Amino acid sequence: MCDEVRVRFAPSPTGDLHLGNARTALFNYLFARHHGGKFILRIEDTDTERSTDEATQGILDALGWLGLEWDEGPFFQSERGDLYRTAIERLHNEGHVYRCFCSPEELEQMRNAAREAKQATYYQSEYQELPRDKSDALAEEGRKFVYRFRVPKGGATEWDDAIRGKVVFQHDTLDDFALARSDGSPIFLLSNAVDDADMRVSHVIRGEDHLTNTAKQIMILRALGHPVPQFAHLPMIFGMDNKKLSKRHGATFTLQFRDDGYLAEAMLNQLALVGWSLDDKTVLFSHEELTQHFSLERVNKAKGIFDYERLLWLNGHYIRELPLEELIRRSEPFFQFAGIELAGRDPEWLRGLFGLVQERVRTLKELPEKLSYFLTDALEYEEKSVNKFLKKEGVAALLRKTGEVAGAVEAFTIEGLEEAFRQWVEAEAIKFGQIAQPLRVALTGSDASPGIFEVMVYLGKERCLRRIDAAIERFCLV
Ligand code: GLU
Repeated sequence: MCDEVRVRFAPSPTGDLHLGNARTALFNYLFARHHGGKFILRIEDTDTERSTDEATQGILDALGWLGLEWDEGPFFQSERGDLYRTAIERLHNEGHVYRCFCSPEELEQMRNAAREAKQATYYQSEYQELPRDKSDALAEEGRKFVYRFRVPKGGATEWDDAIRGKVVFQHDTLDDFALARSDGSPIFLLSNAVDDADMRVSHVIRGEDHLTNTAKQIMILRALGHPVPQFAHLPMIFGMDNKKLSKRHGATFTLQFRDDGYLAEAMLNQLALVGWSLDDKTVLFSHEELTQHFSLERVNKAKGIFDYERLLWLNGHYIRELPLEELIRRSEPFFQFAGIELAGRDPEWLRGLFGLVQERVRTLKELPEKLSYFLTDALEYEEKSVNKFLKKEGVAALLRKTGEVAGAVEAFTIEGLEEAFRQWVEAEAIKFGQIAQPLRVALTGSDASPGIFEVMVYLGKERCLRRIDAAIERFCLV
């Protein structure tokens, strides 16, 4: 193995980037950064029917969002056909692969027969031993075929996995496997192994669903005379209920989390903890800390847990850490989506607003909900709050008086308002609580908000008075 650390993330662009793949990308990235090595991005788009440009773009966007910058690539396997063709020719000439002319029906029959006989392998055909000239003749006739790798009889392929330890595959449990089609176009196992060799990949870090592929790829690499990289198979991902992660648990596609208002910082932190830990207690990790501490030794071979609650908690934490300007910048798309423009507003006023709720939100998406009543006059009144606090005997008079008191306050500040309301409450021997809730509903549409005087100050006198009048008119009993 070469000394330089060179790892790759090699997704197939056939759909949205799953969390499991994002975790694979992250672990490769961290491993490269930790060792001062290279992180390569390779798009495995040889399956032309299922690969799409849109999915490729989605992968690039997801990596960009998470800040996983690659050093080399993206390389597209669809542009590297010659390399695979040369490899298959060599393997063919040296007898490691042969042409298999079996029809899909014949293969299906073999599979069924093996299933009935409860055999581990199914493939057996005359083509395994067909002399080359006869095989050439059939190919010239135009018969369709695939190139199959000749798995050695007897013995085993084994490797020392960086996470799972020694892994052994007995050859008599493996069928001769397909590597390329008649036209020389590669099948996953071939292009993946050839590229790992060509890109001088030192460590292959990927999900454990690839274990069987690894045995086969080691055979291919050895047959081609290439060094075998260090393999490291990451555990599958489970939910908190110990069931394999699925849509039932929550979002499973990486960019869905961005769209749901999660910060990349929280997502990175969370993904790092899916199967890796530094110790039993540390939960918070910045990008730099992850790079500093990450090691394959600390990857758990049993399983990784994706805890949605913890992600929400982490997100709240990172939201609270953001400078207000940055919080505003990042939440802008969510406001736009809600039809609210942040551009052109007084920056200081805006920072103050966000400061009112920064401690209370757990996703960026909650911000427009929490702040919309400051930013638009099209209030949404909660029916429950309206019924409880506005549609009651005496509230109209109380709100009218509230309006008068507020209207008379010269310095419309928290202190100024506090003082005016204190005097009123004392003079009339009423409880402030009686005033605060109806006022809150009138001003915000709901009975939960930051401190009422803060709300009033940020709304400004004019708007407060207008909303009080509007609420009396619309909801209060006369
Ligand atoms: N294209 C394969 C996948 O997405 C790559 C596996 C690997 O990392 O080698 O599963």
